Amino acid sequence: KYKQKVPIHGRDEIAQLGNSIQTLGEQLQYYEESRNDFLAAVSHEIRTPLTYIKGYSDVLSKGIIKNREEQEEYLQIINKETNRLSFLVNDLFEMSKLQTGKFELTKEWTSINDIMEKIISNLKPVAEKKGLELWGELEEDLPLLYVDIRRMEQVFYNLIENGIKYTNIGGISVRSFSKRDLIGIEIKDTGIGIPQNNLPRIWERFYRVDSSRTRKTGGSGLGLYVVKQIIESHGGTITVKSTENEGSIFTIFLTIDQENKSRRNR
Ligand code: ADP
Repeated sequence: KYKQKVPIHGRDEIAQLGNSIQTLGEQLQYYEESRNDFLAAVSHEIRTPLTYIKGYSDVLSKGIIKNREEQEEYLQIINKETNRLSFLVNDLFEMSKLQTGKFELTKEWTSINDIMEKIISNLKPVAEKKGLELWGELEEDLPLLYVDIRRMEQVFYNLIENGIKYTNIGGISVRSFSKRDLIGIEIKDTGIGIPQNNLPRIWERFYRVDSSRTRKTGGSGLGLYVVKQIIESHGGTITVKSTENEGSIFTIFLTIDQENKSRRNR
C-alpha cells in the first residue's frame, strides 16, 4: 500500500531535465539538418562553376573557335568562374580555421579603396549580366589601414556578391568615408531585403533566410558568418539595416590607428 512520493521539487527537476534533453535533441537535429543542407548547397556551388570551366575549356581546347573575340569571351568566363570557386574555397577554409582556432591575420598597410576597386571590377561583369549597376563612391585621401588584405577582399567580395544575388532591379553602391578616427564602408543594394525577424540570425553559420526564397540563388549560408568574424578580428564592427522589397545596407567601421593618421594615400 506504500507509495513512494516524489517530492514536488524533484518532479520539477525531472520535468526540467526532460525538457532540456528535448531541446538539446531539437538543436542537434537543427544542426544536423542545416549541415546536410549546407553540404548540398556547397556541392551545388562547386558544381556550377566547374560545369562552366569544363565546358568552355573543352570547346577552346578543341580549337573549333577561330574567332579571337569569342575565344577572349570564353576565357573571361573561365576566369570569372575560377574566381568564384576560389572565394568559396576561401570561405570554407576560413570556417575550418575558425573552428580549430588556427585563424591568424597577416596585416599590411593598405588603401581600402584599392581593395574595393579590385573587387568591384571583379564583380562588375556578374552584376551587368543581371542588368544591375555596380559602382563605387570612394572618398579620396583616406588614411591607410593596417589589415589582412586577402581577408578584406573576401569581406567585400561576399557582401557585394550577396548584393548582386539578392537584387533583381536597380543596383549596388559601395561607399567609403572617414568619420572621426574611423573609416566607414557601406554596401547598399536595392534588393529583396531581409525580413525583420530574420535579421539577428543572418550572421550564424549555415543560416539562410527562408530556403524557398533563396534556394534558386544558391549559397552556402557561410558568407556573412565569415565576414563578421574577419571584421571583428580586426577590431571593427558590422551592422545591417534592411527593408523587405526595398533593399539592405551593410555598414562596416574600422579604426584608424591614431599614430599613423598621417600616412595618407590617394
Ligand atoms: P548565402 O550563401 O546563403 O548567401 P550568407 O551567409 O552570405 O549566405 O547570407 C545569409 C543569408 O542572409 C542569405 O541566405 C540571405 O537570405 C540573406 N542575405 C544576405 N545578404 C543579403 C542581401 N544583400 N539582401 C537580402 N538578403 C541577404
